[in-house]
Amino acid sequence: MSEKLVQRGISRYFRTLGPRTQVALCQLPLTLIVLALAIATPLAWPTLLNSPLYIFSMVLHGLLFAACFIIPWERLNNSAYLVIPVLDLLAIGLSRNGAGPLVPGLVILAIFPIIWLSASGMLARTSIVLSILGPLFILLPTVAGKFPNLTASDLTSLLLFPLMMLAVSLAIRFASVNMRMQQRQLQEKDRELRDLLDASTERERLLKTILDATDVGIVAVNSKGGHLLTNNRQKSLEQNAINPGVRAAQEEDQLIFAQDKVTPLAAEKRPIQRAIQGELFADYLVWIGNGSNQRAVSTAARPMVSDDGQFMGAVIVYNDVTGLVEALAANEELISNVSHEFRSPLNSILGNVDLVLEDVQGTSPLSAQRLEVVLRNSERLLALVSDLMASASSALKVHPKRTDLASLVETSIGSAQPQAEQSRISLVADIQSPLWAYADPLRIGQALDNLVSNAIKYSPGGGVVNISAQGSDDWVRLQVQDSGMGMSPEDSARVFRRFFRTETAREAAIPGAGLGLSITKAIIEGHGGDISCTSNPGKGSTFTLTLPAEGPSLY
Ligand code: ADP
Repeated sequence: MSEKLVQRGISRYFRTLGPRTQVALCQLPLTLIVLALAIATPLAWPTLLNSPLYIFSMVLHGLLFAACFIIPWERLNNSAYLVIPVLDLLAIGLSRNGAGPLVPGLVILAIFPIIWLSASGMLARTSIVLSILGPLFILLPTVAGKFPNLTASDLTSLLLFPLMMLAVSLAIRFASVNMRMQQRQLQEKDRELRDLLDASTERERLLKTILDATDVGIVAVNSKGGHLLTNNRQKSLEQNAINPGVRAAQEEDQLIFAQDKVTPLAAEKRPIQRAIQGELFADYLVWIGNGSNQRAVSTAARPMVSDDGQFMGAVIVYNDVTGLVEALAANEELISNVSHEFRSPLNSILGNVDLVLEDVQGTSPLSAQRLEVVLRNSERLLALVSDLMASASSALKVHPKRTDLASLVETSIGSAQPQAEQSRISLVADIQSPLWAYADPLRIGQALDNLVSNAIKYSPGGGVVNISAQGSDDWVRLQVQDSGMGMSPEDSARVFRRFFRTETAREAAIPGAGLGLSITKAIIEGHGGDISCTSNPGKGSTFTLTLPAEGPSLY
């Protein structure tokens, strides 16, 4: 591994050098040996100083080394520098033959230019041919000089050495081809990786732009709650949630309040904490910040799960709904004020009409009849105003205690009986007495009256209204079932909204304001219970309410 690193370091360094230095470095080993030879010649082989061929070869070696520096290789064809190793073969041939039998081993120097030619990766065929012909021509004159007295050893070295050089050349060529292929593969992979990286950077930029362009705050957290991503909108919301002067705060240090705007939300009820417990939720309203900067935020969370089902974190979305919440509050305040203002004059009308009706002598039968109509309509108006006031008060007050629901159902049936008889409806109750629940008798009585009177009202063709109950240790479930006009599944999902009325009810001109069920729902939820509706158009509806069987005070 470290060897590869060293090799890579060397080749990287080599590539930083200029072409002239590169060529000179390739020539350097041969030049150094020739230089050593030249220095040794006057001492070891002084007779060689008289050989013009040998002297010329030394000069040629020197000129070739100088040419490496002088010739502007960068301006020439990129294989031009290979002329140097080719001329090296010539220079070696001259020194070998100039030195004659005095220095017979000089032919071995041919290995330097042959390695250079083969490793260059260029002029493939020429370098292979030169690797065999070069040594052959270097050896040939000496062998030819001995002709015809050639020994077996002369012939062997004439053939064997060029063949050896050919083998060296081929081996280097194969090795360098292999290396080049690997290099090309590496470069290919490198390019693919860079393309992938570019694509992923691009995608990340796109995602960030989209996230920052949205009007909702978005946070992605890992399974420990550490932030992976926060968009700009969320950053400004979080800025609102921390005390001035504090730079960044964890969720538990932030100013997050419950729906009453003042109670700090317990750590485990905060959106991120709930999300990292793996909860999936929506429309979870919290208040962030305090004072005039306080914002109402509707939050939602979705867990991130890996392919093998492991919990990896969650994405939490924060939607600033302050405007909507304020508009709703203003709406409720308006309804509440208007209803309040209506109540006093209506009570006065009712009281005075009552007084006039009591004076039997002073009123003609016709006037009495007309006043009865005034009285009935004023009573209806007063009931409507009470409903409006009840629905406008966001937190309906309930005072639950241990209550027998069976007797409440009985009372409710009793008071609905005349209305049922008029509409040819039989009221059936299937409830064991007593049926204890933890409930406010007044409010639950009001809710039951609402459900039973609706069941009668929306069964214009007569029929049966069935009230049944089931109880467990923890819960009591009451069902009010009718065989009336019913409604579509979409309508039954919206039936608890304030002022909602079905198209069929309006077309049939059945009187109503769409408030009764929203009040009923608020009453049941005030008890910690739950109400739902299932219905079939033309077949009837079933309203199911669940209440706690026992209250905390009984434990
Ligand atoms: P109201 O009866 O005064 O209109 P409610 O809130 O009690 O107001 O009911 C809302 C709407 O739900 C009604 O207008 C009616 O369209 C529908 N609804 C309620 N109860 C029933 C029922 N038992 N069968 C069919 N439709 C019903």
